[in-house]
Amino acid sequence: MIDQAANSTAYLGIGSNLGDRLATMRAAVLALHTHPSIQLEPNACAASLYESTPVGVASEQRVYYNSTIRVATTLAPYQLLDAVLAIENALGRVRREPMGSRTIDLDLLLYDDLVINDETLTVPHPRMHLRRFVLEPLAEIAGSAVHPTCGATIAELAGRTAGQEFESIHRVMDARWVTSGIARPGQGESPPFAPMPGCCEEVR
Ligand code: ADP
Ligand code: MG
Repeated sequence: MIDQAANSTAYLGIGSNLGDRLATMRAAVLALHTHPSIQLEPNACAASLYESTPVGVASEQRVYYNSTIRVATTLAPYQLLDAVLAIENALGRVRREPMGSRTIDLDLLLYDDLVINDETLTVPHPRMHLRRFVLEPLAEIAGSAVHPTCGATIAELAGRTAGQEFESIHRVMDARWVTSGIARPGQGESPPFAPMPGCCEEVR
């Protein structure tokens, strides 16, 4: 459904390190897609899928899958946060400890060029400019966007963190991670949206 009033652009971080990581992340994208006030661009909503080692955690944790998604929305920032937290809950997210393992994590990274800092919501996400696992995928779909408090582009921030040794990430799948497995040609259901040809090069 095309919503004429969809005039804000938001970028979401998406990650998982529990259970069937890819299936849960795809389910989250599908839930975003079916939300009446959230639109995923048909052609270029998602970055590639990355695998990353856990950062800043005390306990032993499984490696994460991470990516980023662009959405258009008529929801105000707090409503969008509520929507993504509801999707996390619906997909079985349980918060046992800060920075703990999670079936799904949806973070609001950027919302237009808004800066919000209160008890419930911090935008831009307070740690996004320090994290390779956010910046590398985000640079694929928002490289020229300017981080409103750092004053640098996402591509520049990604360059600054590229060499940090405490974080190991690698790209495991192109942007089709979003649709492959959701779309089953010949089995009745057409893909809800398809990645743009240019963003689907094979991982070398
Ligand atoms: P994190 O993703 O930082 O590890 P959680 O996913 O457990 O932490 O989120 C904890 C809380 O952070 C959420 O309940 C939410 O209210 C709050 N929060 C504040 N700003 C944001 C944001 N930009 N994106 C997502 N959650 C946020
Ligand atoms: Mg989160």
